[in-house]
This record gives sequence, C-alpha cells and structure tokens, in this order.
Amino acid sequence: MKLSQRINAVAPSATIAITAKAKQMQADGADVVSFGAGEPDFDTPQFIKDAAIEALQAGDTKYIPHCGAALNQAIADKLARENGLHVTPQQVIVTFGGKHAIYAACQAMIDPGDKVLIPAPYWTSYPEMVRLAGGEPVILSAGREQNFKITPQQVLDAAKGAKILILNSPSNPTGMTYTPEELSAIAEAVLQTDLMVFSDEIYEKLIYGETRFVSFASRDEKLPERTVTFNGLAKTFSMTGWRIGWAAGPLDVIKAMGKLKSHETTNPVSFAQAGALAAYTSPAAADAVEAMREEFARRGIHMTARLNAINGVECVQPTGAFYCFPDISAHFGRSFGELEVTDSLTFAKVALEQFDVAIVPGVAFGDDKCIRLSFATSMEQIDKGLDRLEKMLG
Ligand code: PLP
Repeated sequence: MKLSQRINAVAPSATIAITAKAKQMQADGADVVSFGAGEPDFDTPQFIKDAAIEALQAGDTKYIPHCGAALNQAIADKLARENGLHVTPQQVIVTFGGKHAIYAACQAMIDPGDKVLIPAPYWTSYPEMVRLAGGEPVILSAGREQNFKITPQQVLDAAKGAKILILNSPSNPTGMTYTPEELSAIAEAVLQTDLMVFSDEIYEKLIYGETRFVSFASRDEKLPERTVTFNGLAKTFSMTGWRIGWAAGPLDVIKAMGKLKSHETTNPVSFAQAGALAAYTSPAAADAVEAMREEFARRGIHMTARLNAINGVECVQPTGAFYCFPDISAHFGRSFGELEVTDSLTFAKVALEQFDVAIVPGVAFGDDKCIRLSFATSMEQIDKGLDRLEKMLG
C-alpha cells in the first residue's frame, strides 16, 4: 500500500506507544508500574458527570453550531476572569481536546516550508503537527543547565524567517513553569519580531509551591492580536476521555480553524460540552480542582526527592504539570544483561523489560539525556516503581 508522503513523514506518538505496551504487559499478567500516563488518575468530578447525564436526558443530542454554544461564552468569561484576556465568543473555538485545537491551528496557519520555533524539551506532538501541515520545526534547545527554559535571546536569534513560536508553560515533559517576568521578557523579544505565538496553557491549574501562572497574551496589550491561546479540560478537571479542548485568539485565525472543523469533525460531542460548561461555571469546580492539585503537589515533591536520592539521577523540582524529567545520562554505557544502555530509549527498554517500570524516553521530547515519569499515579505505585528503578541503578 502506498501511503501519503505526508503521513510517512510523521512519527507515531511515543507516549501513547509506551503506555500501550505497558498496558499489554499488564493484560498479559505482568505487574508493571506505569509512569507513562499523561492523564490524571482521578475520576471526573461528579457534578460534571451529572451535567452531561442531564443534558443527555434532556435530549441535548444534536449538532451544535460552531460559535453558538454556551460553552464559547463560558470560556470567554473564564479568560476575562482568570487570565485578563478579553475575547468575544466568536474568538473561541471548542475542539476535540486541546490536541485537536493545536492541530487545527497548525493547519490554518502553516504553509509548506514555514518555519515554526519549538523550544525543546517539547510536547511530542508539536513537531509532528507542524510537519503534517508541511511546516519545518526549528528546535530551540533548553537543557537542564537553563532549567529547560528558552531565553529571549534564543527567540531573537531564530526569529528571522520564522512564522510561529510555540510556548508551553507549565511544560510537558519538564514540569517547568515560566515566571511572569520570564514570560514578559520573551514577550518583549517576540514583539521585536514578526512571530506569532501559540501558547499551550493546558496545565494552567496544576502549579506548585510559590509558582504563579499567567497567560502569555496578557503580558502586553499588543500580544492578543499575535497569540493563539490553547487550553482544555482534560488535565484540570480529569476529563481526558471527554475530548474537550479549545483555542482563543484573533478572529481570522479562529474562523479559519472553524472552516477546517466544519469539514473535519463538526462539533465536539454535545453532552460532553454540557459537562465542560458545568466545569467552567459551577461553584463546585474550584474545590474539586484544588483537591487534585494538592495531591499532585504532594506526589511531585515525593517523586523528585526519591529520584534525586537514586545513584546518578538528577531531577529539577517540577513547578507545574505532573511530570518529573530527570537526567539519567550518568548511566549511559552500563550493561543490563544483553542490553547496553546508550540513550534514553535503551534506558526505557531495560526499565520496562527487565524491571517492569514504564517510563517515556526523553528522545520523544527532544532531550535524549532524560526520561519522563508521570506522577499521575498513586503514592503506592510511585514508591513501588521507584524501588525498582533504585534497584536497577544501584
Ligand atoms: N498540550 C500538552 C502539552 C499536553 O501534554 C496535552 C496532552 O497530553 C495536550 C496539549 C492535549 O490534551 P487533550 O487533547 O487531551 O486536551
């Protein structure tokens, strides 16, 4: 079968692949501890489920016009209330998850050959989405020595001839969050260029310690016309399976994304949108989110401390999201049975096949010295998995 060049140029999602392999091993009876998941382990809060059930019972089972949904208004209200961003409901598009929103924006904005700046470590889907649109990812490396954050100078140095900069704070995979001051400095650099910014803020609510979250587009009054902001309900409200995400930004971009959506998917599921509406409007939401955030905070501190106590492992304390991204390169060159660990992929292979621990190799995120461990799993599983890694690396 001759597949399209477009699809042949794309790598499958490594995170989904490793989670699938771990699940298969579990189904085959292996006692695998999985740190692969990019999703909260909590159930969706009951008031959100109730709203979706009520919508179904009330016959909310039809197509929803692109901009007509009450959810668009609720998202515009949320952006004004929490993020200092003022948009009309027409400047909001609701999509099948945050992933779909970013994909649609890439399709709407990128022409063949357009350069897109992607700070690394990056979420594994960004370069592939850019390639799917015919664009050229340009990687801006930000290693552990710079806390996995790009500098304004890196933006200025790479901006010539580039069209878009993708920002993701808090970050998957590093767990790093830019401070308001750091974002302002990047904003200042962006405003000296012609770059547009895609700001992926899906982990907005999962921040720890003294960390403060601010929306990139709120950093300067000239930014809203240059920025598309992405978010969704998956991580904040533990709604990964519901597939509701969104983007907000300049009207012409959102309209173009709507044109694509009208041929591609039409509206995201009607009663899932009713659940999302409850999440953004119910007074019960804040407590539900805070309870999950507190538990993630506890786990993140514990996992980081335990990782740093393991021989040859160096881990920066995450300030957001639910991932640790330790450097394990001190172990490159070691052999485990037949296998020599030479990079993050062989490290992950040994961990899974010989020690029953699923982690995602950093190479999937553009940093081959590191591995990603999700702490969206119970304390018991965290301890069990880290006991095994300790044994592997002892
Ligand atoms: N952006 C980042 C950085 C993510 O980690 C994810 C999910 O893993 C998404 C966007 C998309 O999330 P969803 O499509 O589930 O809303």
